[in-house]
Amino acid sequence: MSVVVVGSVNADLVTRVTAHPAPGQTVAGQSMAVLAGGKGANQAVAAARLGARVAFVGAVGDDEFADVATSTLRTSGIDLSGLRVVAGPTGLALITVSADGENTIVVVPGANAAVDDAAVAANAAAIASADVVLLQGEIPTSGVEAAARAAAARVVLNLAPVVDLDPDVLRLADPLVVNEHEARGALALLGAPPDAGDLQDVAAALVRAGVRSVVVTLGAVGALVATPCATAQAGPPDVVAIPAPRVSALDTTGAGDAFVGALVQRLAAGVGLVDAARFAARVGAYAVTGAGAQASYPDAATPLPAVG
Ligand code: ATP
Repeated sequence: MSVVVVGSVNADLVTRVTAHPAPGQTVAGQSMAVLAGGKGANQAVAAARLGARVAFVGAVGDDEFADVATSTLRTSGIDLSGLRVVAGPTGLALITVSADGENTIVVVPGANAAVDDAAVAANAAAIASADVVLLQGEIPTSGVEAAARAAAARVVLNLAPVVDLDPDVLRLADPLVVNEHEARGALALLGAPPDAGDLQDVAAALVRAGVRSVVVTLGAVGALVATPCATAQAGPPDVVAIPAPRVSALDTTGAGDAFVGALVQRLAAGVGLVDAARFAARVGAYAVTGAGAQASYPDAATPLPAVG
């Protein structure tokens, strides 16, 4: 069962500071690391490390950051025949982390801007033959929309960040994976009235607006899975709460991407959505106990934290 990820790949330039500089101010950094990142690459690595057969469609620039950006994609056994090198910079994220754990992030899309509908057309055969096509919001909307439409089987869409997608493409997602903020953004894109209720109501409203299934991630709380009512066609959507294992969090960077990659690995293996989400919550919890994004992802043999 194969997964094709059409998405972003970045070099993350991470500096640690005592306190963030105010505009016009210079502060001394305590450390600097250049790490592989980008939501597309992170999720591809998470799925591959857990055993999925993964191909990645994306682009890097012709600069010195391309190698580090793709380093873990290469060592995770991911098929990179759909990775292009384009003129200009590789996607970059300039990340500053202060002593209190607050981040500031500047993302320069660079080569990720080349992953558009034409790039998808060049990889249409691979996308159409995938069991799961996994998409995020860090490439042009024309690329996301074309890839969702080219998929012949399951589309998983992580609407991160929220981008202005055709509502019919959101409705193809099975599931749409969003955090709390993105869930409300997705509801607005679907033209549904804002839901003043709790997140269970928002998840249900997304299903009522036509999305095939929805997963809302809730950080340390876990996640919600919402699907159309199984027992009556006009009944209210089914919403299942997925608890997260209790762990001592060291670094939450990339936890959402670990969750999505693990979810997709299980879906591609034929596991049902609720059980796949239970597994993904354990993988997300594991990822927050290690530093960095891709470096904190488990493989299939790693013991995972359990609930309760
Ligand atoms: P980010 O973009 O920062 O990676 P996100 O907002 O997309 O995060 P979260 O909801 O923070 O995603 O985290 C994804 C999943 O990871 C959660 O649904 C949960 O299962 C797990 N997780 C995250 N933080 C924790 C934590 N502190 N303890 C246990 N599990 C966690």
